[in-house]
Amino acid sequence: MKTIPVSAGDCDSPDPKLLTVEQVHEQLAQLTTPVTGIERVAIREALGRILAEDVISPINVPPYANSAMDGYALNAADLPASGKITLTMIGKSFAGDPYKGKVTSGQCIRIMTGAQIAEGTDTVIMQEQVNADGHAITIGSGHSAGQNVRLPGEDMAKGSTVITSGKLIGPAEIGLLASLGYPEVKVKRKVRVAFFSTGDELVAVGEKLQEGQIYDSNRYTIYGMLEKLGVEIIDLGVIRDDRQAIEEAFNHAADIADAVITSGGVSVGEADFVKLTLEKIGKVDFWKVAMKPGKPLALGKIKNAMFFGLPGNPVSVMATFYLFAQPALRRLMGEDYQQPLTVKATTKSLIKKHPGRTDYQRGIATDENGKLMVDSAGMQASHILSGMSNANCFVVIPQMSGSIEAGEEVDVIMFDGLT
Ligand code: AMP
Ligand code: MG
Repeated sequence: MKTIPVSAGDCDSPDPKLLTVEQVHEQLAQLTTPVTGIERVAIREALGRILAEDVISPINVPPYANSAMDGYALNAADLPASGKITLTMIGKSFAGDPYKGKVTSGQCIRIMTGAQIAEGTDTVIMQEQVNADGHAITIGSGHSAGQNVRLPGEDMAKGSTVITSGKLIGPAEIGLLASLGYPEVKVKRKVRVAFFSTGDELVAVGEKLQEGQIYDSNRYTIYGMLEKLGVEIIDLGVIRDDRQAIEEAFNHAADIADAVITSGGVSVGEADFVKLTLEKIGKVDFWKVAMKPGKPLALGKIKNAMFFGLPGNPVSVMATFYLFAQPALRRLMGEDYQQPLTVKATTKSLIKKHPGRTDYQRGIATDENGKLMVDSAGMQASHILSGMSNANCFVVIPQMSGSIEAGEEVDVIMFDGLT
């Protein structure tokens, strides 16, 4: 990696509002606080929501000592130090149908996986390690006391905190809640996000394109990213580049939502109505972020709502959403502020770059004999949405880095980890 020292002025016109990616994260972490509403929902409905209470175990899990194997339960005092011993089989214990009697020295019971350990036993021998004739078993030496027994509370002890407030509830968590016997749980209320596109060139799908028009695709990628995030979605359509329409749209969006997301109309020069309106009714900063794609970005508040003014170009929309809007929305939802996770990969070919901005190039990462390799997903311009579809990761190249040679190590953000 070639690192060339440059000042901000070398890569962009001197501008006090040129921010690094790191500075945007700092701003967002400060601007965002979780919504306060809480609701109680059935545990299946809690999937994808944020836990709003600590979950304390009311029971031991497992609730009783049980066998980890199909085999024979006995008392460790009967285990031979050398040679062999024969024990009489006096009964059977099944999962859900335990052996109710007491086992004494010289005896054992047949036991199945998950079945309760009988009184007088503390050790299970795997069935493959015994000679059994249906009435008695013979075992050799080399076994240890307590083996193959799952102890009560081993997974979760009664009274312990099993899941802490603020945790994103996934399949493991709803399973844990079920294993504790909870039918319902308290979660944060859903965050409401209103979004719209701006631009006179935009046409809705299903309509015929006229000269100089394009289809509005951003409202679909934003819909997809918000839907996967699990927020309540309010689609406000396309707003024309008209002063009154824009002011009404922003006011309405801020009244009904916790966060407002727009795309387009934030680049300098072009942003007149959007900028004027936001200056009038909100507290919004217009930044140039030292990143590629996605340089223009507006962040702040309109009334009580968070505002994200994303760039217009489709790839910039996705990159800035995943990098900035998503961690901020997750924070509003009740999670801690977390930047996207990066992993290391080795480049398969030269990746071209000029120092000055942090690059989020579209890449294809593959596992090659246990080593994560990454290659470019083709054309990198910020309007090439097909590149996002061909790619499975962002290749992150630091701000001051130049081109990366084949065989060098880079950070990648896997798309799978973002959704
Ligand atoms: P802007 O920031 O409004 O100047 O937009 C930058 C580029 O993104 C222009 O080429 C726009 O046509 C394009 N663009 C803006 N909004 C959308 C949208 N909703 N869907 C697709 N492309 C868009
Ligand atoms: Mg525009």
